[in-house]
Amino acid sequence: MPIGFHLSIAGGFSRAIDRAEELGCDALQIFGRNPRSWALKPVKGEEVSLFKERRAEAKIKTVAVHTTYLINLSSPKDEIFEKSVKLFCDELAIAESLGADYLVTHLGSSTGAGADVAFERIEAALKVVAEAGLGKQTMILFENSAGSGATIGCVLEEIGRAVKLATKAGLSTGLCFDTCHGFAAGYSLQEKGGMDELVKVIKREVGMKQFRLIHLNDSKTGFDSRVDRHANLGEGFIGMEGLAEFFSRSTIRKLPVILETPQKEPGDEEKNLKAARSLICT
Ligand SMILES: [Zn+2]
Ligand SMILES: [Zn+2]
Repeated sequence: MPIGFHLSIAGGFSRAIDRAEELGCDALQIFGRNPRSWALKPVKGEEVSLFKERRAEAKIKTVAVHTTYLINLSSPKDEIFEKSVKLFCDELAIAESLGADYLVTHLGSSTGAGADVAFERIEAALKVVAEAGLGKQTMILFENSAGSGATIGCVLEEIGRAVKLATKAGLSTGLCFDTCHGFAAGYSLQEKGGMDELVKVIKREVGMKQFRLIHLNDSKTGFDSRVDRHANLGEGFIGMEGLAEFFSRSTIRKLPVILETPQKEPGDEEKNLKAARSLICT
């Protein structure tokens, strides 16, 4: 199945394709813009065509764009919410112009205002997206979170609620499940019984067909720790055996996989890729 990394777009979008090709990957994830600034530089037409051309040459099957971390679609504060919706639309427009399959996003944080307020905001945001004519070519995937503070989306019931709202707004939508976040949020995906339960919850809340992408990461923090720290595969608390349990289902082994592992030492990418393939290609 398609497999790859979250890669840098320094030097242009097509540089991420070059890097994926060097690593022998057929999937990748990128940011659509500089992740640390609200300012948006227009994307040049030639950069877009080069990206598409290189994607075809490198036979990249899956392209995901991850939204940047300033976006908070659940914010109860008007100014932050409005800026977030605008940026979300801009990043979705970039993803669509690049021909990306998925835009992965988090649901943000209610900063104490509670889930119901957060979902009113999310519903309003999705309406704006639909009215702008976006969200038809690139599918919006809501990613589960590790659940620190007032984060929305650490339980799959909340992801399901967002998926239903997006569907109601006429958008194409689904789930991106992050193994590190799921484990940290208390889903025991490393055990058979836990996986039975997880699959049941995904089916009930989101639907297996709407489960589209996996973020494959080990966890530097323990089970149900509510802390989001990614580890290289086999070097964290989930471990290779635990990750093998997650991939024991054939429906899950069919999904594209993106690694967001730390990659600190030279050779880490190759090591993680080898570990990931050993889990999936059984
Ligand atoms: Zn992730
Ligand atoms: Zn994370």
